Amino acid sequence: MKTCPFCAITRGEAPVSTVFEDKEVMAFIPLHPVYPGACLVIPKIHIDHFTDLPDPLAARVMVIAQQVGRKIMEVYNPLRVGLLVHGFTVPHAHLHVIPQYGPLDIMHKHYAYCADGKVQFGDKDIPTLSRPELDRLAADIRL
Ligand SMILES: [Zn+2]
Repeated sequence: MKTCPFCAITRGEAPVSTVFEDKEVMAFIPLHPVYPGACLVIPKIHIDHFTDLPDPLAARVMVIAQQVGRKIMEVYNPLRVGLLVHGFTVPHAHLHVIPQYGPLDIMHKHYAYCADGKVQFGDKDIPTLSRPELDRLAADIRL
């Protein structure tokens, strides 16, 4: 898809800190990693919903996510590595592979903040890393 930011990455038209790439799948560091080791795994073809991936491609995406998770365990030694699929920010299927340091350490607690007397969600409190910082994190877990 022409306007999809993940398709721009797969076409080499946007900067990316790559952890893994083959002809079907790509893994890279998100712009706002909640922890060192946080990684996205995507199919290179534009498909919006993870549930719409053909079975062999879904399996391939999961295998790469598993390999990234093993590398995260080896390098950062979190208690667990979790997976999350929600798909509300970028309409291109993607798995978040996330180091977890406690049982309530789900990804989106990092996005929560209070404003106007309500709990809100956004990335305003998550640091925006520079490309060299993102590249260093990618190098840490590169497959
Ligand atoms: Zn796309």
